[in-house]
Amino acid sequence: MTSSLIISKRLETIARYCPQGARVADIGSDHALLASYLLVRGIASFVIAGELNEGPYQAALRQIQTLALRDRASVRKGDGLSVLRPGEVDAVCIAGMGGQLIVSILTAGTDKLEGVQRLILQPNVGEELVRRWLLENGWQLVAESILEEDGIIYEILVAERGEPVKPYEGKERSRDELLRIGPFLWEEKSPILLKKWQQERDKWQRVLSQLQRSRKPEAAERTRQIEAELEWLDEVIACLHTDKP
Ligand code: SAM
Repeated sequence: MTSSLIISKRLETIARYCPQGARVADIGSDHALLASYLLVRGIASFVIAGELNEGPYQAALRQIQTLALRDRASVRKGDGLSVLRPGEVDAVCIAGMGGQLIVSILTAGTDKLEGVQRLILQPNVGEELVRRWLLENGWQLVAESILEEDGIIYEILVAERGEPVKPYEGKERSRDELLRIGPFLWEEKSPILLKKWQQERDKWQRVLSQLQRSRKPEAAERTRQIEAELEWLDEVIACLHTDKP
């Protein structure tokens, strides 16, 4: 039964940000699970599943065939946005990759974003790089989500063409800080955001402990940098603890 297609909470959250009736490209689609879900649930009118590697590309083809979705789906093999023609889709999803790779895909394929109204991006790491790219390339962040699944914390960034600086204006934190934390996530202050920054603090605390045992000459300077980072993290964590009503 195609309507019972089950996907992860992460992909389901991404799907929720796809506009109803949109033509959607899922770049790096792996098994085309998101693309299939968007069709089966009647969210997208048409999907393009783009995949660089042969194994996942074949898996995506099989998935679309098995679910008999071929008339509303196109599975394409290629690098990033190169599989698209300008004006072909309304929304682009890029999920489950590092922020650096997402940024390089967006940069290499800027011309293919003509006509695209919404980007839905889920970097596994390097969210700050993605927010910065959006800010510098005319995309306004319009929503963010943070969720935890199987012990992993994920962030989803949604952007539309508009006023890129707007989400960062009039806030009590600087733009650089909000690029790290996420302006909407900071407003929301969810317990998962607190957990993310506590984990980040624990990581730097471990690095500091190792460094304090080091006799390398550069250790003193690095120690100072990490202590400054820990101080910032402590302050962020304290706000996340207390600001929630
Ligand atoms: N998007 C799916 C998700 O979030 O569950 C799959 C994520 S999977 C970890 C990353 C996929 O992106 C892999 O199937 C990989 O082959 C593909 N990929 C990596 N670089 C790519 C690129 N430059 N263009 C298209 N696909 C790419």
